Amino acid sequence: MSTVADFPTVDLHTGVQQFLNKGALKHLIGGQWVPAASGETFPVHNPADGSALADVARGNAEDIDRAVAAARHAFDEGPWPRMSGRERGRIIYRLGDLIEQHLEEFAQLESLDNGKPLTVARAADVPLTVEHFRYYAGWADKLEGETIPVAPPYAAGARYLNYTLREPVGVVGQIIPWNFPLLMAAWKLGAALTTGCCVVLKPAEQTPLSALRLAELAQEAGFPDGVLNVVTGFGEAGAALANHGLVDKVAFTGSTEVGHEIVKASAGNLKRVTLELGGKSPNVVFQDADLEEAARGAFNAIFFNHGQCCCAGSRLFVEGRAYDEVVERIADMSKSIKLGPGMSADTQMGPMVSKEQQQRVNSYIDAGAQAGAEPRGGSSLPGGNYDNGYFVQPTVFTSVDPGMSIVREEIFGPVVCAMPFDDIEQVAAQANDTEYGLAAGIWTKDIAKAHRLADAIHAGTVWINCYNMFDAASPFGGYKSSGYGREMGHHALDNYTQTKSVWVQM
Ligand code: NAP
Ligand code: MG
Repeated sequence: MSTVADFPTVDLHTGVQQFLNKGALKHLIGGQWVPAASGETFPVHNPADGSALADVARGNAEDIDRAVAAARHAFDEGPWPRMSGRERGRIIYRLGDLIEQHLEEFAQLESLDNGKPLTVARAADVPLTVEHFRYYAGWADKLEGETIPVAPPYAAGARYLNYTLREPVGVVGQIIPWNFPLLMAAWKLGAALTTGCCVVLKPAEQTPLSALRLAELAQEAGFPDGVLNVVTGFGEAGAALANHGLVDKVAFTGSTEVGHEIVKASAGNLKRVTLELGGKSPNVVFQDADLEEAARGAFNAIFFNHGQCCCAGSRLFVEGRAYDEVVERIADMSKSIKLGPGMSADTQMGPMVSKEQQQRVNSYIDAGAQAGAEPRGGSSLPGGNYDNGYFVQPTVFTSVDPGMSIVREEIFGPVVCAMPFDDIEQVAAQANDTEYGLAAGIWTKDIAKAHRLADAIHAGTVWINCYNMFDAASPFGGYKSSGYGREMGHHALDNYTQTKSVWVQM
């Protein structure tokens, strides 16, 4: 590990060392660790300094085909959908326990692979993952149907018993992004596994490591072969999964652009689709709010995970005379953010996940400045050993115009556009003036106003006097181009079950 005086990094966990020293990492297909059919691999980089972490199998359509066949076999012939829910739940719960026992190892892998601060991965990504599996383990034996009173008008006098069964949809393809690699895997897997589905998971090319380690622990937890398959690779592997005729459902999190591709690909066999796409979430501060708390909240809303959150509060609206104070506070706070490698306990903000993402975010910052917006804030880049890291300056834009690309498009980086507003009707219209509808924040002491605006905003999640709150029990997902279907809560179970109505003449 590279260490410079400014950034003492933690010692690499022995489990992480062993994992990274295995040689090229393989796919898990049908319970076997196998190289890509083509024999190809690709390198995975540490975004803090650009160094190579590991080589990973590069899956293509042939690997997806094998993985789908394994999942199909496990679903059609294997024990998983046939065992009692309680037994399935025990195995899923065990996976949660195992991840918790390996918390430090997962936190380090996540920090190395994605760039996020180790402190954040330890406190958020890994514990949320553990809780997520436990929550869904609890649902496995509670997937009840209904009995429905029926009386068809053309069958007067006859009696029927009508009941419903909730059955798993079958083989599921899950395609996930790089911003919360482990947690996004958990969000997808929890509901799918508890209902009895069998899965082919395709992690993002930038961050495949924690999903592979998770798959090792899934074997240890006792999942039967073929229930969870992991194929690493690029978009070609994702596309093969989305197109596959033997896949019954695809769940996708990522860009709206690829979301469109997924929907088109699903048409072949009319597979079910759920999408969790981008956002351009409004965060609204009224002048009666506790401005210090609101400013801190708005700061975290955009800068948490370096702005690489689908629900990032990237459009900040501040009422009237509070505008200058709130913007000043956020710009000041952003100047003191310590940028550095995730593996240092001192680091508050790590690098972007990839050079591509760094360039993408910087090009938005340039475009905003060129269009006449005023960039504020910013802190110093770490430099030294981290000159090749994919760091970006946290930026607060003022003097923005609603038509600018920085206001309209998802940047997925530490960039916020601050805009003033005068009253609730105006801000409701501004907040909804976007193709997206994933989340929103509201800061005020006026309860009625908070609820009125929560009602008016077209978004799947609204946080009042808080932001970025998540719990496995609470549904999350988008309105409009932010996607459809909900993750988490009992709502996510609907994505992975289908209803059978059974009639019995009495
Ligand atoms: P992306 O292309 O949408 O990638 C998400 C996942 O889809 C990855 O696993 C990706 O594989 C896979 N994929 C790519 N092309 C595919 C295709 N044609 N069919 C099926 N799967 C495909 O996102 P990105 O390129 O990593 O990031 C670009 C932008 O997307 C970001 O700047 C951000 O605006 C947005 N984004 C949103 C979220 C979110 O949480 N909503 C998350 C990530 C990114 P590979 O990565 O391996 O190619
Ligand atoms: Mg892409």
